[in-house]
Amino acid sequence: YYSGLNLFDRKKGIVSASYNQKDGLPSNYILGILEDDHNNLWISAENGLSKFNINTRTFRNYYKEDGLPSWFLTESKYGKGPDGRMYFNTNEGEIVFHPDSIIDDPTPPLVVLSGISLFDRPDEKLSYEGFISELKEITLPYNQNDLRFDFVGLHFSVPAKNRYKYILENFDNDWIDAGNQRNAVYTNLDPGEYVFKVTASNKDGVWNEAGSSLRIIINPPLWATTWAYLFYLLLIAGIIYFIWKAQLKQVRIKQEFEMSRFEAKKLHEVDEMKSRFFTNISHEFRTPLTLILGPVKQIIERLKDEKTKDELSLVHRNAKKLLGLVNQLLDISKLESGNVKLQTIPQNFIPLLKALVLSFTSYAERKRITLRFNSVENEIVIYLDRDKAEKIFTNILSNAFKFTPEGGMIEVSVNKEDKHINVIVSDTGIGIQKEKISKVFDRFYQVDGSHTREQEGTGIGLSLTKELVELHKGKIEVESEEGKGTIVTISLPLGKEHLKTDEIFEPDKDEVSFEPRESIYFEETKTDLSADNTGKFDLSSITQTDNPLLLIVEDNSDVRNYIKDNLKKDYRVVEAVDGEDGLNKSVEQMPDLIVSDVMMPKMDGFKLCEKLKTDERTSHIPIILLTAKASKEDKLEGYETGADEYLMKPFEPDELKARIRNLIEQRKRLHEHFRKQGVFELNQTRITSVDKKFLQKAFDRITDHISDSSFSVELLVEELAISRSVLHRKILSLTGETPGELIRRIRLNKAADLIKQRFGNLSEIALEVGFNNPAHFSESFKKQFGVTPSQYQQKNTSI
Ligand code: ATP
Ligand code: MG
Repeated sequence: YYSGLNLFDRKKGIVSASYNQKDGLPSNYILGILEDDHNNLWISAENGLSKFNINTRTFRNYYKEDGLPSWFLTESKYGKGPDGRMYFNTNEGEIVFHPDSIIDDPTPPLVVLSGISLFDRPDEKLSYEGFISELKEITLPYNQNDLRFDFVGLHFSVPAKNRYKYILENFDNDWIDAGNQRNAVYTNLDPGEYVFKVTASNKDGVWNEAGSSLRIIINPPLWATTWAYLFYLLLIAGIIYFIWKAQLKQVRIKQEFEMSRFEAKKLHEVDEMKSRFFTNISHEFRTPLTLILGPVKQIIERLKDEKTKDELSLVHRNAKKLLGLVNQLLDISKLESGNVKLQTIPQNFIPLLKALVLSFTSYAERKRITLRFNSVENEIVIYLDRDKAEKIFTNILSNAFKFTPEGGMIEVSVNKEDKHINVIVSDTGIGIQKEKISKVFDRFYQVDGSHTREQEGTGIGLSLTKELVELHKGKIEVESEEGKGTIVTISLPLGKEHLKTDEIFEPDKDEVSFEPRESIYFEETKTDLSADNTGKFDLSSITQTDNPLLLIVEDNSDVRNYIKDNLKKDYRVVEAVDGEDGLNKSVEQMPDLIVSDVMMPKMDGFKLCEKLKTDERTSHIPIILLTAKASKEDKLEGYETGADEYLMKPFEPDELKARIRNLIEQRKRLHEHFRKQGVFELNQTRITSVDKKFLQKAFDRITDHISDSSFSVELLVEELAISRSVLHRKILSLTGETPGELIRRIRLNKAADLIKQRFGNLSEIALEVGFNNPAHFSESFKKQFGVTPSQYQQKNTSI
């Protein structure tokens, strides 16, 4: 209803402006207006006094707090004196003042921080020392970050009209006007540094420029402090370091492992190389040894002088021993390389072992050692590789004999248990020291390793034995007491569950019987030799002239002589020392068969073979090649160059003999064939193309001259341009006939043909095929066909 102050424009006669409570008037109910000398209107409203500056059109109000009465009286109870003083009547009396005496208070209030507390727990005192108003800085933990600041402005004229503003630097961007509210609240402050500033103004709006400030530091929590971060960093660094270290270690371990594996591999390779070398070398020993053994045996057989015979027996025995040793070494390296396969046959073990033990009896007698064999059972069938079992027990027994002095006793007993049998060989010999027992299975280990030891041996026996026993899945144990004796126990499993299927060979019945074999070590030379003696007289003295002629081409004279000795009983033998010599002698002598080595100086066996087979003069001669080389390629090469047979060294003399016999037989069959089938059939596989050509040529020449009664061997020799002896031998070798016989046969065959074709009468036919004398023709014809020409004519033309 009351509309405040209105400005009336007199010229225009309108109200140009109006001011009310909103514009700053204490109230819209205006009671009186006075003007002073400075263009101010002093307006009394119902609740206070207002000074209106006409120029700036702003109000400045004064109320009860400024010392005025609370209520003004109504109209005309005010006025202005001549001295400029103004009077206003109020319900509490009259107020008088001179407008010029009313000026603003210039002193701003002092501002102090009166308290700082946690926002939600105002009673809880924050920890600081001294008075809060004097505090410059406060440090708080991270969880005291909800804060309430209390402050007060110290100005007492009109305290209620003090105004405040504050700022939290580093949090607020600008000052915050708090009005007359005397506190500020901040929640959830992050750790960090802040400055809280507060300032106040008095009732007249005069601000304290300095204000008051407090620095607040909120510490980060322990886990968020720099130290903590440093710690984390260190921790991570440490972890990384340890991981790295561990990885490094792992890599190193891996490397070491690789290294050791590599070393092991290398070692294994070296080992393999060694054993291969060993095997090869041992193999090389075998050939010369065989070549020593064979001839020595033969010499012993021939000799009558007992003394030399005894001496040679010694040679023979030792050579045999050496061979046994080499074989043993080979066994071992074969075992080591895992190339030995068990081949078991179920068999009665008792007679086998008994026979083996018995083979030592003569040796026992000689050494005056009592030898006993005990077994309750008469039959224990086990799966056994006989060859290897014999090696096992021969070794054990030979040890027992070796290390038992005269007058001792050796006992072999067998007992059967649930799953295995035990063979116990005990002796009363020198025994073995306790600490050395474990070593006797090492290769080359001998308890008494000195050169002066009485017993011979190499220390292989037991290590080989052990391997062989283990191959059978058995066990071997040695107990011994020095000076008292030794007990060796070998247990072998019964049944066949422990064996792989390819290790088992079921027998074709009846074959289980057992004949003891000669032992390498203790054979009785004399009886042994006489046993398979074939005769006492020297066969070499009887040289039958019609025996086939052999040429032996071999550079090693020992081997050559050995072969010769083996063959001279049945053949005439010519020798050649190398390939060239062999070639010359082949042409010269025209042997019936050639045995040639492959590796020879000047010309090797392959070359020789090739030369002989492509030479018309020698192409018909069968050749046997002997070689130590055994690869497939070699074999092939041998056959390609035309060798008829191929024999590997070291060969068995019997095998060589058999091959030779076979080839000569073949030749005979070939001749037979020629005789039966007629000479024109040349499709024989067993003769070379050179020979075929040669024969064809010979046949052609003969048929060309078939009517020429004067055509003879001499003329054929001339026509074929080879020597008479070569022609003779060659024709004989290929057809089994001499050239003269061949010519006659061809003539007669032709005659037979002509008779069949009714060429003419018999004398004409005789002339046609070169027979001048019919009687001679008739006689020859009968010889060949078994009938006279006229009989033949009747038979073949009567139909
Ligand atoms: P090899 O058997 O190769 O001819 P060796 O008999 O000396 O030679 P092993 O059969 O391996 O070799 O035996 C090794 C060592 O064990 C022997 O040298 C010997 O010292 C000891 N030994 C073996 N058997 C007996 C035994 N019955 N009594 C005493 N010592 C033994
Ligand atoms: Mg031994």
